[in-house]
Amino acid sequence: MTDRDDWAPKSVDLRTPNAARMYDYYLGGKDNLAPDRTAAEAVLEIAPQIRIAAQQNRAFLGRAVRHLAEAGIRQFLDVGTGLPTQNNVHEVAHRVAPESQVVYVDNDPVVLAHGRAILAGSKNVHIVQADLRRPDEILDDPEVRERLDFDRPIAILLVAIVHFLQEADDPAAVVARFRDALPSGGYLVLSHVCGDALPDAVAPVTEIYRRSSTPIITRSTERIRGFFGDLELVEPGLANVSAWRPDTVEAKRISEKYPQSYFLAGVGR
Ligand code: SAH
Repeated sequence: MTDRDDWAPKSVDLRTPNAARMYDYYLGGKDNLAPDRTAAEAVLEIAPQIRIAAQQNRAFLGRAVRHLAEAGIRQFLDVGTGLPTQNNVHEVAHRVAPESQVVYVDNDPVVLAHGRAILAGSKNVHIVQADLRRPDEILDDPEVRERLDFDRPIAILLVAIVHFLQEADDPAAVVARFRDALPSGGYLVLSHVCGDALPDAVAPVTEIYRRSSTPIITRSTERIRGFFGDLELVEPGLANVSAWRPDTVEAKRISEKYPQSYFLAGVGR
């Protein structure tokens, strides 16, 4: 294992599996530990499709950010950043427009430690520790307010994070708070694990995540659509992550090969 002092703050319990590190494992990353890998392998045993679904979710995130940057968006609030990997939001946005401001928000101390390490010295990227369950703390955070101008178009990204909200957290109200904060011309990008295509896997996979530090809740297509409220969904609407504007031969091939929706995504305007 990597030297702990470097790798994670001392207060972090590294023996309990954690969703950010399990996701890193699905993506083929190296910022995961034995308990994360054991839990992730148990999930893949039940539903091997989840690895592809995670990779496709990540690819969707990149395509959505590039699309918005090309459409002129220069401000991104990315809640649920994840461990740094390839095609991070700021890299995709900056490839189109280096002046884009990106603010990352996460509540996981390991994600923050790694994020700060790779972002040190980067321009126009900031990272804030805050919790999605308290949207006002994010929206009123001094760093968020200093870097982002809510009177100009902003994209708010809630990609692969809302399924960590339990029903008691009132996910509909949390997401509505972010929709309400969108200025005119703003966008909400959201993806969410959907249980409809693999009903038999929902209970055992939920049980594995229940024993992690980050329990997960799968939701139906209708519930996920509801998170967009009155926003107008850009083409192709709420879709399987891989079917959201696949832009290369390989992406189109994967989208045809894996038509089932384990992860649904949309971009609302
Ligand atoms: N958005 C990225 C990473 C998703 S992994 C992508 O789609 O590729 C989910 C991230 O959400 C993890 O980094 C996890 O730490 C973070 N997260 C989970 N619950 C959270 C909460 N309540 N508040 C803030 N971040 C949270």
